[in-house]
Amino acid sequence: METGNAGDMAALNLARLIAAAADTIAAHAEELTTLDQAIGDGDHGLNMKRGFEAVRAEAAAFSARPLPEALKAIGTKLVMTVGGASGPLFGTLFLALGKQISAAPDRANLTAAFGKAIEAVAARGKSQVGQKTMLDVLQPVHDALLQGKTAPEIADIADAAAKATVPMKALRGRASFLGDRSIGHMDAGARSTTLLVRTIVETLEGQP
Ligand code: ADP
Ligand code: MG
Repeated sequence: METGNAGDMAALNLARLIAAAADTIAAHAEELTTLDQAIGDGDHGLNMKRGFEAVRAEAAAFSARPLPEALKAIGTKLVMTVGGASGPLFGTLFLALGKQISAAPDRANLTAAFGKAIEAVAARGKSQVGQKTMLDVLQPVHDALLQGKTAPEIADIADAAAKATVPMKALRGRASFLGDRSIGHMDAGARSTTLLVRTIVETLEGQP
């Protein structure tokens, strides 16, 4: 991720990424549920775990496909299995990423595709940065990619961005029903997003 060499992600091991992502979500499912209990309906951990276990179950088939097709298939699977508001949104993220990414992306292609995918999420959610949602992590990660940040820096930026949702007032999703009472809690979708970002960048960096 750091070098930006063309083809530096060509050997991307999707099966390993899927396993790492599903492991992380499973390990943090309770935490995500607790966050969603505070200002939502308490299903985010279960939603994410169901979706990522469904993706894990078909990891071999997904990994056998070219990266754009694999990402689209993962997005479709997430839409079908995560549920809640976050299912269609995470699903859209991967679907749109699959539509934009090349089979052997370099950093520039990944960054551009990720930017388009975030736009697709915002369109689907009728949402924007600053509303205490997953977008509040996705956008800083995109900015970090554009700025040429290293993988560890990107993971830390994502964590800080999730923490920065604590003082925000929710303007989208269930938490927005609480108005000012949504202030003082981390957004569950921002937390799951930073968990996935850290896992993905650390797994990519650890690849031979
Ligand atoms: P639900 O809110 O239907 O119970 P989840 O609990 O699985 O679904 O997901 C909630 C998360 O989804 C929120 O924490 C937030 O990050 C994200 N979210 C909800 N609505 C939107 C939206 N309109 N745009 C972007 N993200 C959203
Ligand atoms: Mg919920």
